[in-house]
Amino acid sequence: MPCHHRSKETLLERRPTIAVIDREALRHNYRQIRSNISQATKVLAVVKANAYGHGDVETAAVLQDLGCEYFGVAMPEEGIRLRESGISMPILILGGVFPNQIAEVFEFSLTPVVFDLFTLRLINEFAAKKGLIKDIHLKLDTGMGRLGIRPQDALLLVQELSGARHIRLEGVLSHFAEAEEEDRSFSKKQAELFLKAVQSLRESGISPPLLHMANSAAIIAPFLSPSPRVRRVRKGAVAYKDAGFNLVRPGLMLYGAYPSERLMKKIDLKPALALKTRVLSLKKIDAGFSVSYGRRFVAKRNSAIAVLPIGYADGYMRSLSNKSSVLIRGKRAPVAGVICMDLTMCDVTDIPDVREHDEAVLIGSQGSERITAEEIASLAGTIPYEVLCGISARVPRVYIS
Ligand SMILES: *Cc1c(COP(=O)(O)O)cnc(C)c1O
Repeated sequence: MPCHHRSKETLLERRPTIAVIDREALRHNYRQIRSNISQATKVLAVVKANAYGHGDVETAAVLQDLGCEYFGVAMPEEGIRLRESGISMPILILGGVFPNQIAEVFEFSLTPVVFDLFTLRLINEFAAKKGLIKDIHLKLDTGMGRLGIRPQDALLLVQELSGARHIRLEGVLSHFAEAEEEDRSFSKKQAELFLKAVQSLRESGISPPLLHMANSAAIIAPFLSPSPRVRRVRKGAVAYKDAGFNLVRPGLMLYGAYPSERLMKKIDLKPALALKTRVLSLKKIDAGFSVSYGRRFVAKRNSAIAVLPIGYADGYMRSLSNKSSVLIRGKRAPVAGVICMDLTMCDVTDIPDVREHDEAVLIGSQGSERITAEEIASLAGTIPYEVLCGISARVPRVYIS
């Protein structure tokens, strides 16, 4: 039996450092996305990188039960994991496929994103040999400077496609470079370039059923303003409908984190992950005594230090040393000294009655206090994406509700 299905009893015998995933929060966030888009728009849940650390198999199962139409992963291996766990909805391979992966893409009915002629031909040949027609999505680079063919080269692909009888263009996509920015001009330009390219595809007789661009930030704050006629119907939703976009690709927001602080006002999301442990050891140190490698914390007063069994090997980043805090008995205990591979110390001098084995929350809430992945990211000089998918495989995931 895989470890994520272990019973609570088994977990009690292990180190208490765990990531608790609240399925109800995932459901809430999914429903928030649905209510922000038009009814005809489908949702492709991005569950790459182990669902941003939340457990891909478990997350996809929750979302498939809610009627999620499509899943997105970075690479074929991730898609195969989902297939083997019983996910039957289409799975898009966002990060592309190498030639040696094409056989498995067919075997597990995965849908590749294609951005070059060479791969297109290989897939067509493979499908021809098998005597079937393979759905693909075509990626255009409208300004991300990453994957995708240039919109002005799209017609080359059209010619190729018209000869590729074993390929069906199910979708065309592009990706925003700065959808979370306050200044929306570049994103608007990208959306317009995309639509122009789609229009010229249509004029050549190619009308892919699915058009998609929006990541979390663009779902929360869409880029093409709806015409006054439809503005009354529903705020964000119509923008996509208007533009012919009919699939959205949320990742981060599914997990209850925000792509930027600015977007917090616009939608109510619930963090789905809590990172918790328990006090392993409690000690008193005298003023002047130092804590951890490099002696970067020196006690200014007689202090109480709690040692926690979590470190950077669990994804609690070393860059948080002397910066972040941990919730114990409903209060914030500042991290004291350098975070080690397996251990983190914190100063509990100002928290009365702390005992060994008390719960410590590194991400999540306790009492009326809360630490978000966004807060941790900002202290560590990174983004919540990296904080969440950085929680390592040695931290067991425990599922509630
Ligand atoms: C990861 C990814 C997404 C999801 O982005 P979020 O900002 O997490 O919503 C969407 N599209 C593509 C192509 C991606 O790689």
